[in-house]
Amino acid sequence: MSRRENQYDVIVVGGGVVGVSSAYVLAGRGKRVLLLERYAPAHQHGSSHGDSRMFRFDYEENVYVEMASRAFRFWEDLAKRLGRPLFRQTGICNLAPADAEVLGILETRLRECGLPYERLAGVAFSRRFPQLNLPRTSEAIHQPDSAVLFADVLVRSMWDCVREDGVDALTETEVAAIDPREDRVEVTASDGRSWSAASLVLAAGGWTGRWLDALGIKAKLVITRELLAYFPQAGPVSHEAGAMPNVIDYHTADPFYCVPQVQVPGVKAGCHRTGRIVDADDPEDVDRVNLAAVQAFVGRRCPHLFRNPVTVKHCLYTNSADYHFILDRHPDYSHVVVAAGFSGHGFKFGPVLGEILAAKLYDETPPVDTSLFALARFTRPGELKPRTIA
Ligand SMILES: Cc1cc2nc3c(=O)[nH]c(=O)nc-3n(C[C@H](O)[C@H](O)[C@H](O)COP(=O)(O)OP(=O)(O)OC[C@H]3O[C@@H](n4cnc5c(N)ncnc54)[C@H](O)[C@@H]3O)c2cc1C
Repeated sequence: MSRRENQYDVIVVGGGVVGVSSAYVLAGRGKRVLLLERYAPAHQHGSSHGDSRMFRFDYEENVYVEMASRAFRFWEDLAKRLGRPLFRQTGICNLAPADAEVLGILETRLRECGLPYERLAGVAFSRRFPQLNLPRTSEAIHQPDSAVLFADVLVRSMWDCVREDGVDALTETEVAAIDPREDRVEVTASDGRSWSAASLVLAAGGWTGRWLDALGIKAKLVITRELLAYFPQAGPVSHEAGAMPNVIDYHTADPFYCVPQVQVPGVKAGCHRTGRIVDADDPEDVDRVNLAAVQAFVGRRCPHLFRNPVTVKHCLYTNSADYHFILDRHPDYSHVVVAAGFSGHGFKFGPVLGEILAAKLYDETPPVDTSLFALARFTRPGELKPRTIA
């Protein structure tokens, strides 16, 4: 291999939605990019696979709302570039007891951000959303702009796009060593191939923690394997995206969610952040207790679905200590940026994460305020600095 062939402007480690989005943005800036992925695009072992992800704006923190708005425009442009749909607008219903604090917080946030919403209850709710059973003492906040992203399709399409845009995108390539030098980074694969670049984006999902330790970064990531199951329709009421909204149900401390049917038969349902703590390479096994809880949720909330799932799947959450993202430069090597800790809600923001990481690499002001995502919030692995009140 000639010297030029293994030299890049940027090496991106990890080809999930975050890594491939970063490669997409960097290639768009004219950078010579190498994208390295241990498996294949949208493989089943990480976090970015499956038919669907919720796209929603209803966040408590303003920065996520801004990021969602920016990301939505990007997904629209990508769909235009490809000439095919990559998402379906379906709206979202946040369900909770009428006096629950969460409804008030969401309502305030949506109002402040100028996003449309309705508060619904009783007959008005059940006429509109016959797929869902809402207790008489509960209410829903419906936000109509939410969508379902076609996750597998998006990740594979982005891989096709980055290759078209000149990125060297390698699958079945496991990075075994990352060696940051003063002005470059050397990367070696487990089969002995090696490359060098001016900068590096570390986007290794559930495997990032190992690199944080090796690179001396003070953040701890807790990996959970989350269960999701697909429940088939039991009657004539349509549960397709467009007819049925996304749902987040705050009646329990750990919210349940469901996503309307997209490509895989059945409505997807799960319970947020209730998966077992694992090592990302541990073998999969079905958590029967968790599955029973999800079935019970479907039984009480979705009267027109069978309670026996057609499929049960798993997916990794990479949780940071405060469930906010980590998007920052290495404290000692400013040409290395870390993208991790997406804590079960990162997919929708993919391209904006790429923009933020590119801005960090080139010492530019990122498109949104990234202070929430700084490494400086950790004092030691697993510990956060107490919040200072300005
Ligand atoms: C059940 C579930 C539901 C979710 N629902 C939503 C939702 O509705 N909306 C939303 O926005 N988000 C959602 N998320 C979160 C979202 O899917 C993740 O935040 C996002 O996919 C994380 O992407 P990633 O690129 O960081 O990780 P990954 O997709 O895991 O990508 C990391 C990649 O790095 C590769 N890699 C690791 N180590 C190496 C190495 N040494 N060499 C080469 N490659 C390596 C891995 O193979 C992997 O492909 C959900 C997640 C789960 C699990």
